[in-house]
Amino acid sequence: MNHDAQSPNAGSLSPILLTPGPLTTSAATRQAMTRDWGSRDDAFIAMTRELRERLLGLAGGQTRHVSIPLQGSGTFIVEATVGTLIGPADKLLILINGAYGERMLSIVHRLNRRAEALRWPENQAIEADRVDRALRDDPDITHVALVHCETTTGLLNPLDAVATVVAGHGKALLVDAMSSFGALDIDLERTPITAVMASANKCLEGVPGLGFAVIEEQSLRAAKGINPSLCFDLYEQWQGFERNGQWRFTPPVQVVAALVTALRQLESEGGPAARRRRYQENFDVLSQGMEQLGFRLFLEKSVQAPIIATFFQPTSPWFRFPLFYQALAARGFLIYPGKLSQADTFRVGCIGAIGPDDFRRFLGVVDAIMTEQKETTP
Ligand SMILES: *Cc1c(COP(=O)(O)O)cnc(C)c1O
Repeated sequence: MNHDAQSPNAGSLSPILLTPGPLTTSAATRQAMTRDWGSRDDAFIAMTRELRERLLGLAGGQTRHVSIPLQGSGTFIVEATVGTLIGPADKLLILINGAYGERMLSIVHRLNRRAEALRWPENQAIEADRVDRALRDDPDITHVALVHCETTTGLLNPLDAVATVVAGHGKALLVDAMSSFGALDIDLERTPITAVMASANKCLEGVPGLGFAVIEEQSLRAAKGINPSLCFDLYEQWQGFERNGQWRFTPPVQVVAALVTALRQLESEGGPAARRRRYQENFDVLSQGMEQLGFRLFLEKSVQAPIIATFFQPTSPWFRFPLFYQALAARGFLIYPGKLSQADTFRVGCIGAIGPDDFRRFLGVVDAIMTEQKETTP
């Protein structure tokens, strides 16, 4: 358990979550959930307005985009965005190098919309020139989708290069920025993107229960009536907010309160650039320390985002991952078991209200557990 005064989550009695979300939150964010809100009351309507404005501002989308929060986890907002924007006459090209790209493809199939997949190995970044060729070869494609940071491995895809290619062909781009929004650079003023999707409980350091999309207003207006789902229709959800500032259906009021509080903290921290620096420091302390303990990173540094680190499991005959996991959990650190198709690995998240000192303590604990396992495993 964490009692480190230097840490952003000082005083927490919760475990430190070194996972890709939900993740460790600050005391102020948890505190924001300790009261009730009337969902149709002016105070909550004002909070919803602040939420939507802050999300739009973080994306740099004030001139051409609108922000639409939706109840549910991150996958809900991906399904809602795809279902709202991709109509029966459209065709979506999905760029895939991990589990979240594959998940988007299953969503499109479920929705009975046309899709094509372009795949890369899990340890390789998407290549803009292959996207260029695919768009030249198939004029039926109307939309392209990619995952900005593929949380499966922690790989950062080249968003700006792909966006330039897609815009050059006059197509729409959908970006799953779930594990990058709020920390890695996304600027709708500079980069041509139709829709960005993310959720409360990753780099924004809110609690789970809410996703949101920032969508070009013109494309959203054109999407009226496309989505056969009542709950997931983001055009209708947007119209609801525009009509009276209220959510169409019961909002997760405490989740909204926590997220608004977390967004104010993001601003006082210095915005996404400052948050990225903290995460980078977390990643550097973690990766250097783990390498000194004999662990190896799965990805090359050139494609690695400072969001989540994937390590190979040690090949030493005495190493037992389940015991390693349990021993870490018993000492207050939850990591993420991750089986890639290519290798036995595990993941350690670098995001959340945690700082380099948390990672120094983590490394000390890993060191002790490894020594213990080596001596006690027959
Ligand atoms: C977390 C995440 C999602 C959504 O996952 P949920 O479990 O539904 O919140 C989608 N895409 C990426 C890249 C993610 O990291």
